[in-house]
Amino acid sequence: MAPLVEPPLLDTLGRPLRNLRVSVTDRCNLRCQYCMPEEDYTWLRRSDLLTFEEIQRLVEVFTDLGVDKVRLTGGEPLLRRDLPDLVRLLSTVAAVQDLAMTTNGVLLVGQAAALRGAGLHRVTVSLDTLRPDRFRALTRRDEHAAVLRGIEAVREAGFEGLKLDSVVIRGVNDDELIDLLEFGRQIRAEVRFIEYMDVGGATHWSREQVVSRAEILERLGVRFGRIEPIREVSSAPAERFRLPDGTTFGIIASTTTPFCRTCDRSRLTADGTWYLCLYAQRGIDLRTPLRDGASREELRALITSGWSRRRDRGAEERKDLEAIGHRGVLIQIEGLKQDPRLEMHTRGG
Ligand code: SF4
Repeated sequence: MAPLVEPPLLDTLGRPLRNLRVSVTDRCNLRCQYCMPEEDYTWLRRSDLLTFEEIQRLVEVFTDLGVDKVRLTGGEPLLRRDLPDLVRLLSTVAAVQDLAMTTNGVLLVGQAAALRGAGLHRVTVSLDTLRPDRFRALTRRDEHAAVLRGIEAVREAGFEGLKLDSVVIRGVNDDELIDLLEFGRQIRAEVRFIEYMDVGGATHWSREQVVSRAEILERLGVRFGRIEPIREVSSAPAERFRLPDGTTFGIIASTTTPFCRTCDRSRLTADGTWYLCLYAQRGIDLRTPLRDGASREELRALITSGWSRRRDRGAEERKDLEAIGHRGVLIQIEGLKQDPRLEMHTRGG
């Protein structure tokens, strides 16, 4: 008799649970204007942060229910001490097929080799500009050279599939589309342009500053010639394209062309709150049951119940608001200061 195969866990829109973004800290060593523009925030309590063993335990439960891709995020994940130890623990979870990390790159130089040795598969580095003065203005920190060295360290450590994420903001860095793409080509990294989004920390967001996918393609087309879309079946947020010389790049068009219909991502904050959407205002507390001794079955039941009721389509709803002229800053700074989990940097971008 063939073994029984569990039916996949689906939400109300038929979307499976596959991608888990695990934030390991809400702290960051940059202050990017589209994410974390203030100097100080209400931070998560240290005693509330999940230990590495607790994160591993939750990840195991998530894999029981279909998760096979895990991405470590922050804040800035490399600020969490001994991160390679967490990577080593997660690399032993057999069902995790893809173990990746998104970082701002500042601290990569000292850690890239250890992370690779611990079993991390892939690294994505945020890089919005190639100009040190602009980097300083955008992030309010003088760390551009450290990021470039970090990118080099990723290559030297032997990682495959390096990606560079650039949030494109009109009047800030939209004159660097071509330079960023050329840079990616030189170092064999795939650049992904991200439309400026109106999520939690983007308290200075305005629609006028969004450079749409269509405009990005048009501008790159003028420089490089015919750009072909790459047809692939994927729930990944980036649509991929190819230049005439074979260079590939991605665009994440969450603002103008949301992809909520295929979204299989959820987010675990560093203090164990599980969010089913980047825009969700409420999450599900997994830390309390975990620390109260819940069994694997009990945690599985909690996650199953949350996901099977999921109806989130945050980016699409924001776009609907735009159609009736009501799209503005999502959450004002006062609201963010009261609840740190509303921040994009707390729920891993
Ligand atoms: S807005 Fe929410 S549902 Fe839509 S793609 Fe982003 S995380 Fe997924």
